[in-house]
Amino acid sequence: MEVIQSFTIDHTCLMPGIYVSRQDKGFTTFDLRITAPNREPAVGVAAMHSIEHLMATWFRNSAAKDDVVYVGPMGCLTGMYVIMTGNYTVEDMRRLTIECLEWILTQDEVPATTPSTCGNYLMHDLPMCKWECRRYANRLRNDFHSEYSKLQVTLKDGMVFADA
Ligand SMILES: [Zn+2]
Repeated sequence: MEVIQSFTIDHTCLMPGIYVSRQDKGFTTFDLRITAPNREPAVGVAAMHSIEHLMATWFRNSAAKDDVVYVGPMGCLTGMYVIMTGNYTVEDMRRLTIECLEWILTQDEVPATTPSTCGNYLMHDLPMCKWECRRYANRLRNDFHSEYSKLQVTLKDGMVFADA
């Protein structure tokens, strides 16, 4: 079996911030961690859906748009993944993400929330989306974290768990 760069993170001490989740095949996957996993409520599913629409829209229209590969939510609802090409550091992503969050806070609707443009167009929550984005922006400004504690989880058949 192919050896993959793979680890999971110790979620018991993970703080909101921006982390490099993985770097391979010319891409960097950034972990935009919005809440403290298992110690704070996860983002509501409808609010997270709205964050996805707004954050993806902003990144794909930003100065960095040519390097944006993917923007999407984590299954655990505690953060977003942003995959980039090029040479972006967590400090670059911190600056871009704060700019993105500030833009989200000025919005009074979630883009593309019609049956033809979204797979679950009624499942949105802009007020809670903005509440999460406001708190996350303040944390990125004032209490920034970017260093993981890593763990490796091996399954019974020898496969190594990967969460992204
Ligand atoms: Zn949608």
